[in-house]
Amino acid sequence: MYDKNNVFAKILRGEIPNKTVYSDDNVLAFYDVAPRARVHVLVIPRGEYTDILDFTKNASAAEQQAFWNGFRKTVEKLNLDNNFRTIANTGRGAGQSVMHFHIHIMSDERFQEDF
Ligand code: AMP
Repeated sequence: MYDKNNVFAKILRGEIPNKTVYSDDNVLAFYDVAPRARVHVLVIPRGEYTDILDFTKNASAAEQQAFWNGFRKTVEKLNLDNNFRTIANTGRGAGQSVMHFHIHIMSDERFQEDF
């Protein structure tokens, strides 16, 4: 069950501020409030999906295509020179703390050392 009071739902409704990197009709990308890399951005669909399984099962093909387009545009805006890590924690047991599907984009020179 999707909880409409999760923090990302509040961000999408404009009830909590965010530092936006990219925004369109389907996607919002913004800086993580507690960055764990030099660049740490979250990409979310505007639709109500709890995690990557919910999204890939229940979002329309058009929504999924729009999400990945927004993801790519976000990466391009960040100028990461094709060096970044993506993470989608799924389920509390894997460390998902916000139950609105999101992809972490992280980039940091330390990742070269298999950080
Ligand atoms: P996860 O643990 O994979 O669910 O990731 C949730 C992420 O959301 C964490 O990295 C948090 O630091 C981040 N986060 C929580 N609240 C906010 C917020 N208000 N603005 C931006 N990022 C947030």
